[in-house]
Amino acid sequence: MTSTETDALGVLRRVFGYDSFRGEQEAIVEHVIAGGDALVLMPTGGGKSLCYQIPSLVRPGVGVVVSPLIALMQDQVDALRALGVRAGFLNSTQDHQQRRETEQAFLAGELDLLYLAPERLRLESTTELLGRGKVALFAIDEAHCVSQWGHDFRPDYLALSELHERWPDIPRIALTATATKATHAEIASRLNLGEARHFVASFDRPNIQYRIAPKNNPQKQLLELLRTEHAGDAGIVYCLSRASVEKTAEFLSQNGIPAVPYHAGLDSRTRAKNQARFLREDGLVVVATIAFGMGIDKPDVRFVAHLDLPKSVEGYYQETGRAGRDGLPSTAWLAYGLQDVVQQRKMIETSEGDAAHRRRLSTHLDAMLALCETVECRRVQLLNYFGQQGEPCGNCDTCLAPPESWDGTVAAQKLLSTVYRLQHERRQKFGAGQVIDILLGKQTPKVQQHRHDELTVFGVGTELSEGEWRGVVRQLLAQGLLAVEGDYGTLVLTEASGDVLGRKREVRLRREPKREPKAARTAKKAAAAVEMPAEAAPVFERLRAWRGETAKNQGVPAYVIFHDATLRQIATERPSTLAGLGSVSGVGENKLAKYGEQILEVLGQ
Ligand code: ADP
Ligand code: ZN
Repeated sequence: MTSTETDALGVLRRVFGYDSFRGEQEAIVEHVIAGGDALVLMPTGGGKSLCYQIPSLVRPGVGVVVSPLIALMQDQVDALRALGVRAGFLNSTQDHQQRRETEQAFLAGELDLLYLAPERLRLESTTELLGRGKVALFAIDEAHCVSQWGHDFRPDYLALSELHERWPDIPRIALTATATKATHAEIASRLNLGEARHFVASFDRPNIQYRIAPKNNPQKQLLELLRTEHAGDAGIVYCLSRASVEKTAEFLSQNGIPAVPYHAGLDSRTRAKNQARFLREDGLVVVATIAFGMGIDKPDVRFVAHLDLPKSVEGYYQETGRAGRDGLPSTAWLAYGLQDVVQQRKMIETSEGDAAHRRRLSTHLDAMLALCETVECRRVQLLNYFGQQGEPCGNCDTCLAPPESWDGTVAAQKLLSTVYRLQHERRQKFGAGQVIDILLGKQTPKVQQHRHDELTVFGVGTELSEGEWRGVVRQLLAQGLLAVEGDYGTLVLTEASGDVLGRKREVRLRREPKREPKAARTAKKAAAAVEMPAEAAPVFERLRAWRGETAKNQGVPAYVIFHDATLRQIATERPSTLAGLGSVSGVGENKLAKYGEQILEVLGQ
């Protein structure tokens, strides 16, 4: 830094253009500046980056940031450079010359921040390089990648435990947006963070509206959601398989919604191109497998939709967390059905790895299913999962349209005894479709072929519709009162089924609300800070057009120039001087010098 003003708050204001720290940021920053180790758990959008960027600027030397997000390093570095911060990265995408230049800059003390892929730290040449320069701190981003319990394990991260032995006096700060108690403990022990102070922020993301809908025609449901609530918005749609990614992207495009696919089967050029388009263009939808999105810090992702059930609550929370980093109202929407349960149970059954691994997968899935089937506030349940308390939020589907629960004991008994009779009287196993046909007393060819109309349970379940029976099957599977096996997803009893059949336990089930609750915009509060008066809208559009042009000329994402929230505030306040413009949140010293005159000109038009 060239200026003499080097204290943390000064840097926040001058470099980043923000007035004050948020939440625990200040305590974290002070602690690390003073040389302490820190373990930071903060939700996506909480403001983790500043927690290591500011200490890197304040402490002498270079902040070394370990991040698995190679594809995003260029954007991260561009964003910092736009603020006047001297940043560089070392990863496998560079050629020899580029690497050398960065190494030289590091050794010459001409960098504030250096981003590194974790596998580089395994190379003797890298540790030797770091040993010859001056390191201000080590930041370990996405620290949950060190945990085998979690959902995103990366073996390269295990080597990070050695940082402490090699550089015992240099502070380390590990950060993650996803951590249950188990993951939290594992991060601390695997990274040797025994002495670190732990900072645990609230995991709540109040501006995100969580909704989980029964799945019937997921593509159509998705289209309806995008048309009615998210026209023109940028968003991410997650699917489990590459094939459904391709099909869904095509379906959206055909229906007038600009969408691109992203999955590991695409060649790396296409992937990079689609990701770059998503970051740079306004209002593009990316349809992706979970391979997409870690570390994507596009602030204006307005929705995240899941067309298939995520494998764990941690994964779900991280993926949905990519919506609404800018604090504006956003939607997390998941469509979930019987087939999801059948498919995921099957995947676990046939997965590689030992029994302990399969048990872990099952535990994750059970927690996810419990979230889907809850009649309580989704947010309360999510926060509980991360060991935190919450109040019913008024901004999730179960709060907006509380589902009733009903006593499903008799229905469960009917269904389980049908499975029992098939299994024990006939030595047969069937999938949900046949079992439901039997309960409804349908004379289908398959029923007649197997003489299932002679079973005593034939036709005993006409009080429920076929859809309702599917809901019963799904929930019994979710509660472990029924299981599926084999390639055809045939239903079998579990040990716990016996308790229901023997009338030893009650079964409470969730009745689906007739209609999906529409986005009642209860998250308005979050938006108020940057809500614009009507007359500001055309000014905002002019600023946006200027920003688009500027970003294009520089080959960087638009948000690297200014965030929407900053442009909104400028459009509302319409400052007429550079000093006035400089007081807008998000306008720091460097950007003011670089763009100030241009913006005043746009405002004067
Ligand atoms: P995370 O890495 O935790 O997901 P980021 O570091 O990307 O979050 O921050 C999320 C957003 O909040 C960014 O747009 C960032 O510029 C903004 N932000 C962070 N700290 C502050 C602050 N103290 N004041 C205003 N905006 C902030
Ligand atoms: Zn709620």
